[in-house]
Amino acid sequence: MNKKISAGEFSVWLEEFTQTMRGLGEGSVPCGECVGCCTSSKFIHIRPTDRKAVDSIPKELMFQAPGLPDGHYLLGYDEKGYCPMFKKNKCSIYDSRPETCRQYDCRALAASGLKIDDETKEITDRVNSWEFGYSSVHDSELSNAVKLAVKFISENRNIFPDGFVPLLKGQIAVMAVRVHHIFIGHTMDSVREDTNSFASEIVVKCSAVNLNDA
Ligand code: SF4
Ligand code: SF4
Repeated sequence: MNKKISAGEFSVWLEEFTQTMRGLGEGSVPCGECVGCCTSSKFIHIRPTDRKAVDSIPKELMFQAPGLPDGHYLLGYDEKGYCPMFKKNKCSIYDSRPETCRQYDCRALAASGLKIDDETKEITDRVNSWEFGYSSVHDSELSNAVKLAVKFISENRNIFPDGFVPLLKGQIAVMAVRVHHIFIGHTMDSVREDTNSFASEIVVKCSAVNLNDA
């Protein structure tokens, strides 16, 4: 049993995380001693807008991100699964770290309700530790909407365009957060009555986000 750590009120977290994903504000995960993100064999996406990061990371550690336009790079990891910029137990370029690192918030996985089986033990333990507050009905409604979005996307993978639904649970959780408003006030039964409309709306919403991201 993991020791519980407060993740904050659900609605407050959701608003902050949504703003962070839009590039409006810094992520503010209370990571404490956890360094799971930097030590879990993750490829870090570096965008053209990450100019400070590009200037701070040795060129030989970055490579062109497959399938993305020039200027998008990936930063790999060493034989232990550590980011090469992780030194002396902390990020050595913290103030210049890429947007990907600023945006990552493992509370999205906790919010998704998904059983985590594709992350390292450190990240999985932290995800299982988070405890959201639900002091208002709205908190519960929003939480239900995120979980319903996760369930819908996971169960209907085959009706989306090829490759649209990501494989990693963390990415599905983020997608669900992005489109959760579509599901507010719905149940799985009401969603099943119009599966294709919900799927189309998700595609439109995510495409708009991806265009902003390019
Ligand atoms: S896994 Fe979560 S708590 Fe740990 S460093 Fe990453 S975001 Fe922070
Ligand atoms: S760039 Fe910094 S914050 Fe990002 S994974 Fe590497 S060490 Fe961690």
